[in-house]
Amino acid sequence: MSAAELVALVACDLTAIVRGRAVFVSELQEHLDAGIGWVPANLALTPLGPLAEPNPFGSTGDLRLMPDPDTHLRVGAEPAGSALELVLCDIVDTDGAPWECCPRTFLKRALAELSERAGATVTASFEHEFQLLRPERPHLPFSLAALRSAEPFATTLMSALVEAGVEPELFFAEFASHQFEIPVAPAGGLEAADRAVVLREVVREIARRAGLRASFVPLLDPAEAGNGVHIHISLTDADGRALLHDPEQPAALSRLGGSFAAGVLAHAGALTALCAPSPVSAERLSPHHWSAGALCLGDRNREALLRIPPLLGTARSEHSRQMRLEFRGADACANPYLALGAILCAGLEGIEGGLPSPPVLDRDPATLAPEEAERFGVGALPGSLEEALAALEADEPACRWLGPQLHEAYSSLKRAELAATAGLRLQESCARYAEVY
Ligand code: GLU
Ligand code: MG
Repeated sequence: MSAAELVALVACDLTAIVRGRAVFVSELQEHLDAGIGWVPANLALTPLGPLAEPNPFGSTGDLRLMPDPDTHLRVGAEPAGSALELVLCDIVDTDGAPWECCPRTFLKRALAELSERAGATVTASFEHEFQLLRPERPHLPFSLAALRSAEPFATTLMSALVEAGVEPELFFAEFASHQFEIPVAPAGGLEAADRAVVLREVVREIARRAGLRASFVPLLDPAEAGNGVHIHISLTDADGRALLHDPEQPAALSRLGGSFAAGVLAHAGALTALCAPSPVSAERLSPHHWSAGALCLGDRNREALLRIPPLLGTARSEHSRQMRLEFRGADACANPYLALGAILCAGLEGIEGGLPSPPVLDRDPATLAPEEAERFGVGALPGSLEEALAALEADEPACRWLGPQLHEAYSSLKRAELAATAGLRLQESCARYAEVY
């Protein structure tokens, strides 16, 4: 290691851009203790470049990026290159107290509340899709030829993800052009979101080293499937017993799990503003993109916002362990801490309100006659970011989860993105967002 090697201290901002400052590895310990300076207005930077105006921060104030040593990782360098070394940070006030707009702290609070108020511990996993931006004609979906076309990038990437501690499970070619997916092993809620942040950066880094561009843009080509982030969530009690599983209930979803799901569906509009938050995100969520074409709970149904994935084998203990809810409505423009934290807050509202389990849909929601759609509780997701933001404004509990300053900062960012893309055609916005994400 050269004496001048650098380690980046970073935080994932409200628009899922990872920003921070680099320090000498040899001086890391001091920074682990004291953090490093940060500026409130940095959280008002849009993913398109400029500051969102107006924003709640202005030119005043000081903060610290406070590294969490548990997240320290290093992906080794290639010859003549530099290692990717970083530590994820919380954003704190200068006195060390958590800052009210820190997304990672938002998730920590949501996890603590779910534990205190419902006795539930979260295990989660973020499943990412992305595309390599390549001019040549793509190979067929899921084909070996498509997999081979991604070599040696794929093998190098998977080793880098192992090195980064992300625990990737597989690599496969998806449906759209040069599209790939990497599911990762489940972890505790905070670590799962940390892994989502790291996975995106490692994919981009390894692509860059290979002379490629990888993009997690929610939609690259409006004629094709988009890039989703599917968030898998399971809940256990203090003794590690599965809380979502009950073989006596429809689709084996326990009453508590049903209430959690109902809470998520009840707040789906506000959640969309936080989970699918770019001006091109809503287009991915339209029917028949195999993403989340409708607001409903589905058993093994890829058009449902919330899906119960299949339980494999026959052993009840295995089923309890596998049982989870898959939220299909997120994308990589969402901050993983905000997305997961908000889903958990919505689920907790459902549990505390004792909401009844939603009906479980077993078919394509787009084929339902209106009265069937009503019987299955099938609704529509917001058709645009404007509609999603309006749903957030109108959702009093969701505004409360965020708190006034985080809500204001978030809304001003999203309004600035909408204003900046107002004159663009969909395809142009997709191309612009593909450059950033
Ligand atoms: N590409 C789809 C999405 O945008 C997901 C396809 C699948 O993995 O089921 O969410
Ligand atoms: Mg997929």
